[in-house]
This record gives sequence, structure tokens and C-alpha cells, in this order.
Amino acid sequence: MFPTDTRGDRDRLLTLAEAIAAALDAVRPVRETETVPLLEAYGRVLAADLSARLDVPPHDNSAMDGFALYRADLQADGPTRLPVIGQALAGHPYAGVVPRGVAVRITTGAVLPTGPDTVIMQEQCAIAPDESEIVIEPKAAARLKPGENIRRRGEDVQSGTVLLPGGSRLRPQEVSLAAGQGIAALTVRRRPRVAVASTGDELYEPDVELPPGAIHESNRYLLIGLLRRLGCAVSDLGILRDRRDTMLPVLRDAAAAHDVLLTSGGVSVGTADLVKDVIAELGTVEFWRLAVKPGKPVTFGRIQDCLVLGLPGNPVSVMVSFLMFARPLLLKLMGARPVDAARLRVRADFQFRRKPGRREWLRARLRFDSDQALLASIYHTNSSGALSSLCWADGLIELPEDCAGVAPGDTVDYLPFSGLGVE
Ligand code: AMP
Ligand code: MG
Repeated sequence: MFPTDTRGDRDRLLTLAEAIAAALDAVRPVRETETVPLLEAYGRVLAADLSARLDVPPHDNSAMDGFALYRADLQADGPTRLPVIGQALAGHPYAGVVPRGVAVRITTGAVLPTGPDTVIMQEQCAIAPDESEIVIEPKAAARLKPGENIRRRGEDVQSGTVLLPGGSRLRPQEVSLAAGQGIAALTVRRRPRVAVASTGDELYEPDVELPPGAIHESNRYLLIGLLRRLGCAVSDLGILRDRRDTMLPVLRDAAAAHDVLLTSGGVSVGTADLVKDVIAELGTVEFWRLAVKPGKPVTFGRIQDCLVLGLPGNPVSVMVSFLMFARPLLLKLMGARPVDAARLRVRADFQFRRKPGRREWLRARLRFDSDQALLASIYHTNSSGALSSLCWADGLIELPEDCAGVAPGDTVDYLPFSGLGVE
């Protein structure tokens, strides 16, 4: 079912697009839903289309603090005097019908009283000290169009229309829109359950003394943060040693209880790279190795219904392969509507040599040149072990498979981290 580099042309690696297409095919969005109060809905995925129940605004109302009047009462050849007969305040509508030849004091958001068709800003009127009367000069009258400064009923939202489509990821503004509809709880998909493990004999937690030759493990701290931001429920499996007998039961049990298993390390070609073998023993490895840099050894498999994403060990490979490969799969699993990552065309201020063949990402930063055009710089080293480069960068430059190098002044694609869900 899946193209792999072990069938057909043995040396051809899957492109990122092929890998994502094949893997997306295997992803079924989580089906269970839950209804959560608005304040717990941020970041969740709306389960189904949500219809508007109300017109917003519910009445014609004033967009300004001023006076409601009949536009036709204003004279062009001299000042217009209008007695002020009452007031309409936000939350306190004017009760009666307003006759011609008068004005009503009105505040922003107050319901437009019956009769008047226009609101004049208070700054455009001379107001009697006791507010019993206003005077409008011809110049101010000339500037005031009929219907001005009024927000019409249903101008923002019409009842019965789709307020938010299913699959929307709920940002503060979507939650706020629901609140404005008098909707107090939203039905969202359950969060995907993702288990995260780091593999390697050299890895130790940040709070322990390191034995000789060891390093502190950092990938889980990257992946768990990325997953939480995306809206997944994360289980931390900790560090797994490079031994089949320790890895196998942990991954088997985790696969039974999660939608996704996300590992880092152990998918390369070294003797201690056992993750692929263990996945193959427990389920299937659908494909391994992509035409990308960094992140070539990315592995995709399944253990029963659980998807297994085996990311490489190098920290930069982990972040890049998460953002480029794992993220679109997880978004589908979450039931989110697909959106392309934001992409800017910018100018390179650097030289970069490479061989065509793999899609490559460079850690990059943007700045403005003297003409206010966007210029991208890259980090001083391209090593995929340099975790500090990810803190320096604010995004990635993407070089397509056929790119043969970059010269200063060339146009390149820049993907801001913010467009990939990392601010
Ligand atoms: P591997 O893919 O297991 O061969 O790992 C590649 C490189 O990434 C090695 O230098 C590992 O020490 C390093 N590495 C693997 N996992 C982690 C981790 N969780 N935290 C930091 N470095 C790691
Ligand atoms: Mg390893």
C-alpha cells in the first residue's frame, strides 16, 4: 500500500510530499467528542459546523457617541438647531418614537431609536451647556452621509449562517465569537493521545549527574512542548535504553493506549538503532527514509491502530521533522482543517552550496534591508546537533529538492515558526 525505498527503485528516497500523502492516507481523525465550557475551548478543534443563533448586532445601533437625527433635517445654507429630547444609552434604549426636527443623545452601542436614520459624532456639533439643544454647521452637515455612524442589525453575523466550520481550531477570537452568540460551551474533538519517548544509552534526565560519555536528554522537552501547543494530550514515556528487551514492552503497552507513538533517536543505521526493528516486530514499518535534510531517517509505521512516528535523534532534525512531517499528520488526526504553513518570498543575504536531491531547511532569521525589503540570514553552522540555532532562528528557509544552491540576492521561501504553530 505504501511506496517504500525497498520496492522498485531501491535507491530512491520518498519525497516529503509523497511521504505525507501516504501517511495522511493512514490517519483517521479521532471521532470522540466532548463538550467543554468556552474558557476550556482554546486550542481545541470544533467537532462540527456551528450555526449562528443570533444576528450580531441584534439591533441597528450607534457606532459613535453623538446624536441620532434625521439626516434630511440638516440645512445646507445655515446652521441647524435641534432640540435634544432624550437619550439612548448602551443597555438603556430610548422608549418612544422620535419625531422630525429633534435629536436624541446616543452612546456607542446604544440601540438606534425609532425614527432617526443617522448619527452625528458629538465632536461635529455645538452642544448647549445644559445639553438641551445642538447646533450643526453646514460644513459638518455636508460631511454627514445618510445612515452614517450606524451599525446595522446582522452586519457582523446573520443568524442561521455557519458561524464556524467544523475543523476550526479555536483561537481566542473564535471562542469570543461563540460567546457573542450566547453559546456557553462548544463540542470539540477529544485530544489525540500521544506518547513520547527518547531513545539512547547516552541520555540522562536534566537533574542527574552525568556519567562519562553521557549527555542530558533534550528532545522530549522539545517534542512535549510542540505537542502541547498543537493540542495533543501527551504521555511521557521517558528515556528508553537501546535494548530490544526494554523498548519492546514499553512501546507495545503505549501503542495499546495511544493514538500516536512519537520517538526520537534510534532510527538511523547504527548498531544501536533498534527502534525500526522493534516497530517491525510489534507492527509494520510503512516507510523509512525521506529525501529531506535534516531528518532523512524519519520512520513511519503502525502498531495496530496506533501510528508510530520515529524521528531521528539530532535535536534540529527532531524539530524540523516534527514541523514538516509529524505536524500535518497530527492536525488531520485532531480533525483540523488543513492549512498551508505561511510562506514568505524573501531575499537571501548568504551563500549556500548544496547538491540537489533532498528538500532542505536552513535555520533563518529575517531583517529589513535599507529599502525595507525582507532579507534572510542563516545560522553560522548547519549542524543538525546545534540546538542553540533553533533559539536563534525565527523560522526556516525551505530549499526545494531541485535547488542547486543559493547565492546572495536569490529569492528563497521562508516559513516563520509562528506559521508552524511555534511562536
Ligand atoms: P541517533 O539517531 O539515536 O543516532 O542520535 C543522533 C544524535 O542525536 C546522537 O548524537 C544522539 O546523542 C543525539 N540524541 C539522540 N536523542 C537525543 C535526545 N533525546 N536528546 C539530545 N540528543 C539526542
Ligand atoms: Mg541513539
